Amino acid sequence: MKKFSLLFLITVICYSCSSVPITGRQQLMLVSDEEVLNLSLQEYNEYIKTAPKSTDKTSAALVEKVGRKIADAVEVYYKATGMESLLAGYSWEFNLINDSQINAFCMPGGKIVVYTGILPYTQDETGLAVVLGHEVGHAIAKHANERMSQQIALQMGETTIGTLLNKTSPTIQTVGAVVYGLGTQVGVMLPFSRKQELEADHLGLILMAIAGYNPDMAIPFWQRMSQQGGNSIEFLSTHPSDNTRISEIQKEIPEAWEFYNAVYGTNKKPANNTSKPKTNENWHF
Ligand SMILES: [Zn+2]
Repeated sequence: MKKFSLLFLITVICYSCSSVPITGRQQLMLVSDEEVLNLSLQEYNEYIKTAPKSTDKTSAALVEKVGRKIADAVEVYYKATGMESLLAGYSWEFNLINDSQINAFCMPGGKIVVYTGILPYTQDETGLAVVLGHEVGHAIAKHANERMSQQIALQMGETTIGTLLNKTSPTIQTVGAVVYGLGTQVGVMLPFSRKQELEADHLGLILMAIAGYNPDMAIPFWQRMSQQGGNSIEFLSTHPSDNTRISEIQKEIPEAWEFYNAVYGTNKKPANNTSKPKTNENWHF
């Protein structure tokens, strides 16, 4: 990398840090929210046009109900912290799609998709809240934007920065297509990093608590997922489940109850029935 490029990159990075709501982690953002929203909306619209909607009306209504409650929790949190402006480009949608893959996702901007394949694992409304809290956690933490920015930073050395930072540049379009490659083998997006997965778990716990769900129930959900096991399961191959994940969640549950108590004026505590996690160490990351 040329000296000029490096200096330019450092300058760009200094002006491009933002922080994740709730966790406060600093992250690199080289792409504007507007651009990410545009790209993801394009991809979402393409996908949803042909995606087979589930005919199971009861489950679809449950996805809508839980999704709405998690979305409301985001709004409650943002209003309480004076960050409503961050929700400017959001327009929530909740879909249950007939697909045997054990997966779910939330696109930037609040487009939520749940595959019917995950319902045997969520089992009930609270289980679904664990999944949707996690997925919405990725969205509000702008993890896709961060992944795009990391990809762009990697390519910085090989491409002229002037071209790269041009919003209509082919590079940004290509990276966007990869990150939001709904039509690719990967499925929805490039796998999130392990750090992002743990952060989405953390945000998800707090969102489900604000939405009025029992955050203790995140543990049995992830235990069910990990007992099922196998790299062929899409949700697990992109959503690592292991001892670290479950023990991190256990540590964060008291904080989630604090949010619950603050919102509902209660004094509830974590149940200590969150037994030692049974997990499989051989997940593919
Ligand atoms: Zn995830």
